[in-house]
Amino acid sequence: MQFFILCVQRFEPVRMVIRTVDLRSDTVTLPTKAMRAAMASAEVDDDVLGFDPTATLLEAEMAKITGKEAALFVPSGTMANLISVLVHCNVRGSEVILGDNCHIHIYENGGIATIGGVHPRPVRNNEDGTMDIGLIEAAIRDPGGEIVYPTTRLICLENTHANSGGKCLSVEYTDRVGELAKKHGLKLHIDGARIFNAATALRVPVDRLIRAADTVSVCLSKGLGAPVGSVIVGSASFIAKARILRKTLGGGMRQIGILCAAGLIALQENAGKLEQDHKNAKALAEGINQIKGLKVDVTSVETNFIYFDIEEGSNMTALKLSKKLEEYGILIMFENSSRVRLVTHHQISAGDVQYTISCLKNAMAGLPEENGV
Ligand SMILES: *Cc1c(COP(=O)(O)O)cnc(C)c1O
Repeated sequence: MQFFILCVQRFEPVRMVIRTVDLRSDTVTLPTKAMRAAMASAEVDDDVLGFDPTATLLEAEMAKITGKEAALFVPSGTMANLISVLVHCNVRGSEVILGDNCHIHIYENGGIATIGGVHPRPVRNNEDGTMDIGLIEAAIRDPGGEIVYPTTRLICLENTHANSGGKCLSVEYTDRVGELAKKHGLKLHIDGARIFNAATALRVPVDRLIRAADTVSVCLSKGLGAPVGSVIVGSASFIAKARILRKTLGGGMRQIGILCAAGLIALQENAGKLEQDHKNAKALAEGINQIKGLKVDVTSVETNFIYFDIEEGSNMTALKLSKKLEEYGILIMFENSSRVRLVTHHQISAGDVQYTISCLKNAMAGLPEENGV
């Protein structure tokens, strides 16, 4: 997506500004002091040989929290999803049903197809991140047609659903998709990059939320704030296969306890802060909605994502607004010329939210004179 590149280039000089409010993404979170201390003193060994004690500890902790038998640390969420899909679809001619607006389909270089030879069967994502159960069922291939059809083996969900604005898939919905998968002998994988955000917002324990899933990928480096890594959770036999594929893909690393130590702190210290991130997002959305020329559907803000629109008739554009905000030390991303995305995380305080609202107000009010219009 072009705007990612644009933003990265343009924002370089901003680091000089005294106050920085970085709302580009929850991937921008920096390791905390506690994380750096834990990384410095982490006990480590060769994880490819299976001996890194801190990696083992993180994997055990993640398996426990998510209610699955086993877990595997991997370098990124993309690799977590790739490994998960490929292990589920390890027979040539496999097909996966996934949302047409999901991360795996849009932002992962088509890896499941180009590397794994797995055929994607996109089903329309609704605005709330779900796919209609009826449409999923209709997309499942008739096993009698294998002379012409690929074989459906897997359904993928995404929770929270990033491109739908961080919306949560409910327990009931997830369970229903799980039942459908079972009925047809399929597996269910959840891209749970932000599953802790979903569990927090829904007030459901993570293990309950993902009970129906065979496997889940969880990002440590989004709202949880660790510098690097994701974890795949699933059955012990699945994780054993995933471990081999991780090595094949070049994701077998040696003293990863250094990274896993930060992941453990993320679980201990940052998971509990997600609720505040969501409150901050809500407050930010409500504040923005009060500003003339800007519009947010406040009810659509369920977790830490806010999408707002610049109303028609305004001579403001997302690019102009982001440049203006940059002068105040506020970093944002935009989707197109009138749609802006903000993401809260544990390094955004309630004060930062108020500061952002007042800077936005200034930027929107100040523009006409400055333009000499
Ligand atoms: C970030 C993200 C991923 C994984 O991305 P990486 O950059 O590879 O860590 C997967 N799914 C969703 C929904 C994400 O937001």
